[in-house]
Order: sequence, then C-alpha cells, then structure tokens
Amino acid sequence: MELIKDGKRLDGRGFNELRDIKIEVGVLNRAIGSAYVEWGRNKVMAAVYGPREMHPKFLRDPTKAVLRCIYNMAPFSVEDRKRPGPDRRSVEISKISSEALSHVVMLERYPNSAIDVYVEILQADAGTRCVGLTAASVALADAGIPMKDMVASCASGKVNGEIVLDLMKEEDNYGDCDLPLAVIPRRKEVVLLQMDGKLTQDEFKKAYEVAIDGSMQVYEIQKNALLKSVNEVKIGE
Ligand code: ADP
Repeated sequence: MELIKDGKRLDGRGFNELRDIKIEVGVLNRAIGSAYVEWGRNKVMAAVYGPREMHPKFLRDPTKAVLRCIYNMAPFSVEDRKRPGPDRRSVEISKISSEALSHVVMLERYPNSAIDVYVEILQADAGTRCVGLTAASVALADAGIPMKDMVASCASGKVNGEIVLDLMKEEDNYGDCDLPLAVIPRRKEVVLLQMDGKLTQDEFKKAYEVAIDGSMQVYEIQKNALLKSVNEVKIGE
C-alpha cells in the first residue's frame, strides 16, 4: 500500500512529525490523579488510585509499594467491536507499562502499598501503549506521587522503506516495522523498547534515535500540561 507520496505521509505529516497531542490534567473527581490524552485519533484516559493498602495481602512488598498498571481497551475503541475483558495483548501491555512506570515512581516510600494506574483506551488508532504510558505518567504527577521524573513515550517505525515517527493505524497495519519506546527524559534512560517487524542494524539505530527525539517532544507537552493545570489551580484559589 502506498503510504508515502511526495515525501509526505497519508495525513500530510513529514517523517519526523508527531500527530497532534492534547493533554488535560485532573479530569476525574474520584481518582487521586488523572489525565485525558488525545493523540491523533487515539483517545485515552488514565486514573491513579493510591498509594493504598495492597489487597490481596500476599502481593504486599514490605520494602516498597507495588505499582499495577491495568491497560484496557473499550469494546467500542476499535472498528470491529473488541471483546470486553483482558486478553493476551492487554496483559502484556499492562505488564510492560507497570515495569516502565516503576522505574520513576519512588515506590520505597510506601511499603506494603499498592498504586493502581488504570489506562482506558476509548478510541484506538495505533500507538496506544505509548499514549497510555504518557497519560499514566501525567496522572501520577497529578496525584502528587513522588517521582524521579516522568516517563515519556513515542513509537517510530518503517513505512514504505522510510524511518518515520509515530505511526498511525494505516502505517501500523501496512508498514514494515513498529518500534515503541519509552524513556526517562532527564537521563535518557530507556524503560521500554519493543519491536514488531524487521529492521537492519542501521535502520534500527535511526529508528531508535527518532523515537527518543519524539519522546522528548512528548515530554515537553506533558510538562506544559502539568504546568498549566498547576497555574489554573492557583488562579482559582
Ligand atoms: P499499539 O496500540 O500500542 O500500537 P498494537 O501494535 O498491538 O499496539 O496495536 C495497534 C493498533 O491495532 C491499536 O492501536 C488498535 O488500533 C488496533 N487493535 C489492537 N487490538 C485490536 C483488536 N482487538 N481489534 C481491533 N483492532 C485492534
């Protein structure tokens, strides 16, 4: 399928261009922290509960909190109805997201506790694990949970032989490779890296750099959304 024409992608983007990203902070009253992210045609909500007592008890860690990220796709989030409930893919994404976020949250401050992060995909258009992580990390900051830094995330990939940033659905479906990545921006430490498809070593190096650059751009958008929400609270007081 022709995904690139005259150096432009199907939606008019250049190779290193992100989709439009909008982040709203603190959108849910019942959650300790929350964030809503629109990223291209993706729509994702993240909500944080805790730190709270861990149940079941046998999962408690007396040295630190356990962060559980629960990724879920709504039945109406994709073109054909998605069967509700967990599946192999959502279990995998929950696991890698929990691990990535655990690198930045200061878990040792809350022994025996659970920090639960719910990621609900309301509308999916490729890259939802990156959008989920981005939303989750803003929601954790909104909850006031101590963190060393954010987690910022973005995918790159290969489409019609070109390395491009932030694949949308058509590129994900008909492209050659998808490389989701998440990073702790201040240290440029990678906390998630997956690859679906094939790349040569040189292509991999380029795609890796492109995804890191994209994640750094996402980091700026996350910080701006948080700053805006803090300023709004001050003005409202
Ligand atoms: P990611 O969303 O992180 O890119 P995948 O590469 O597994 O994860 O999925 C790519 C896209 O495929 C999703 O964003 C979504 O649009 C679509 N998709 C995933 N699971 C389903 C499903 N069960 N039914 C229909 N579409 C799906």
